[in-house]
Amino acid sequence: MTQKHYVSETLIDGIRVSFEAERTLHEDVTSHHRMELIENRVFGKVLLLDGAVQVTSADEFMYHEMMAHVPILAHDDPRDVLIVGGGDCGLAEEVLKHRRVRSLTQVEIDPNVLDFSHKHFGEFNASVFRDERFQVEIADGAAFVRETMARFDVILVDSTDPVGPGAALFTPAFYRDLHRCLRPDGIAVTQSGVPFLQKEDFVASIRGLGAAFDVATCYIVAVPTYFGGHLALGWASDTASLLEVDPDILRERAAGLATRYYTPAIHRASFVLPGYIAEAVEQADRGR
Ligand code: SAM
Repeated sequence: MTQKHYVSETLIDGIRVSFEAERTLHEDVTSHHRMELIENRVFGKVLLLDGAVQVTSADEFMYHEMMAHVPILAHDDPRDVLIVGGGDCGLAEEVLKHRRVRSLTQVEIDPNVLDFSHKHFGEFNASVFRDERFQVEIADGAAFVRETMARFDVILVDSTDPVGPGAALFTPAFYRDLHRCLRPDGIAVTQSGVPFLQKEDFVASIRGLGAAFDVATCYIVAVPTYFGGHLALGWASDTASLLEVDPDILRERAAGLATRYYTPAIHRASFVLPGYIAEAVEQADRGR
């Protein structure tokens, strides 16, 4: 009998989440990451960077739809959008579904992740590379937001976890620079981890956002591959009313948008937090 081969996510100390690799499609060490792509019967293609799952072909839509559509549909005029990170381009696909978006800039530190995802995740990102509104900058996202003269309506931080190159995208200085790059009424959304397992990082992230913006909270999404309960998406803006956009307006703006997770009702509901996450947000507020 042939031995089954498993690849393990080792992101959280004391926990190992394993995926059977029916095939290993690619293994590489890039300038910034150790990269592995495997095929699993439940999740399809699974991309890991430095031992942390980034994206799978089966459930990528859940995270990407919620990260893109909630801020874009909440905004009155989301013309210019910036993605920091997001190398697999699943998020870019969702952003570019919006005709109200006129330009999308993506700042990714590792060109290999982009090239690689272009080649292996065409089922969800092929349209991105044909879209004239899409522009890529290869740079450290922290340096980009510190230096750019461009201004954006929505900024989406689709980062790895706060280790390695991703750590620069979780600092108070980075959050202040996000604020500087946003137009008034702008919205920033960040990948803020799984509060149950990464509470300290989560609290620090919301606290950092709260020091830079008038409103800092999070909304939640359940993504099967991000083990440990809800994933939190940090939400920051200076305009409190953007948290409570009228459901009729959301429905009107979302008309014709092809989604499998996002609905206007889920949009509103995702800001209703379980007690332990609301308590962590309050803890972040108290430490501001
Ligand atoms: N949804 C994913 C998750 O949380 O598991 C994140 C996906 S995406 C592949 C993360 C991307 O962030 C990677 O391609 C990585 O190269 C990029 N990244 C990490 N640190 C960065 C930095 N400082 N500047 C720009 N991109 C960065």
